[in-house]
Amino acid sequence: MRIAEIYLDNLAHNIAQIKQNLRPGVKICAAVKADAYGHGAVRCAKKAVECGVEFLSVATVGEGIKLRKAGISRPILVLSLCDKSEMRSLVKYNLTPLVGDAEYIDLIEAAAKKFFKSQKNSAKKTNEKFAVHLAVDTGMGRIGCLPHEAKDLAKKIALSQILSLGGICTHFASADETSKKYRDYAQSQYEKFSLAINSIRTEKIDAGIVHCSSSAALLDRPEWQFDMVRPGIILYGYCAGKITQKYLSQKGIRFEPKPVMALVTSVSAIRHFAKGESVSYGCTWTSERETKIAVLPIGYADGLLRRASPGLEVAINGKKYPVRGRICMDQCMAEIGMKSDAKRFDRVVIFGPKESGALCTAQDLSDAQGTISYEILTSVSKRVKRIFI
Ligand SMILES: *Cc1c(COP(=O)(O)O)cnc(C)c1O
Repeated sequence: MRIAEIYLDNLAHNIAQIKQNLRPGVKICAAVKADAYGHGAVRCAKKAVECGVEFLSVATVGEGIKLRKAGISRPILVLSLCDKSEMRSLVKYNLTPLVGDAEYIDLIEAAAKKFFKSQKNSAKKTNEKFAVHLAVDTGMGRIGCLPHEAKDLAKKIALSQILSLGGICTHFASADETSKKYRDYAQSQYEKFSLAINSIRTEKIDAGIVHCSSSAALLDRPEWQFDMVRPGIILYGYCAGKITQKYLSQKGIRFEPKPVMALVTSVSAIRHFAKGESVSYGCTWTSERETKIAVLPIGYADGLLRRASPGLEVAINGKKYPVRGRICMDQCMAEIGMKSDAKRFDRVVIFGPKESGALCTAQDLSDAQGTISYEILTSVSKRVKRIFI
């Protein structure tokens, strides 16, 4: 048994916590890419919409289609560029692309024109244009036009018969850091973005919805919220990088997120070990005394990163036990000692919110493993059944 329990009430709680920190009228675009950071995109998106979230964002056209097929009708931003072969679907499912160069805009326009033409006689005709958001690369070095190119591209979109400028955005490279160097960098990105917006507005072009802040910036830099914010990780109960709860509270910002996912398994066997017996591949751990080992049916193919052991501890009946030896593809072993009352089929929690019985969070695991909570959460694989609570 290996399951990911998804506490949807905690997702709602986190959205309420975000709202408390938004200036009036600021919209939320909830990032549900990568299957909602491993939590299950459809159920999380539905819950988020129920909580009043106006926009959703995904990474790929396929992820957007999945939401549309589940009946979600809110605007969906596609945060990565798509392939030419995906453009028809992008239009068909009314997904909103980020665009950042003339060639890409032309391709999207052509795909939209072709699609609307093919629909002309069947569907009722509307004069609505296909909205795109202009991405400005202010220093992330990923997608988007350079700030000085924004004006002409905005004009191109605004003059199109097919497309409309639904918004303009940028993405920060270091908003989750607190040192001066990184804060200055984010500040310079914000200033470049502001210049780009102004250059569009001086042409009397409506820039649409202006947005730039993901989890870190929206809490740390409320003055950068513009018309919309794009939280991801904080929806799922974790802070972004160095913008921790403690850091925020020192700044007088109240933010108390709750983890949404618990990774759970159960004891599949209890084994008795004499002194000097070893556990798992490579025999990297050998018992120093007589002990008992609980075999757990969860491994790296489930998302329990192999590098987590040694160091990983799991919770059984409110107590912490260390995983011994290497984590296998499908199983791992925890030492429970001679005195433990743990028995076969007992619930084992790897990480999660307190109410799941967990004694650590994905943040604790990521700190110990030299990664970020995002990676711990998105590593939980398909084989792990999501159960919504
Ligand atoms: C993933 C992503 C977000 C959300 O980031 P978090 O750090 O999880 O809040 C926002 N905007 C863009 C462009 C993204 O790719």
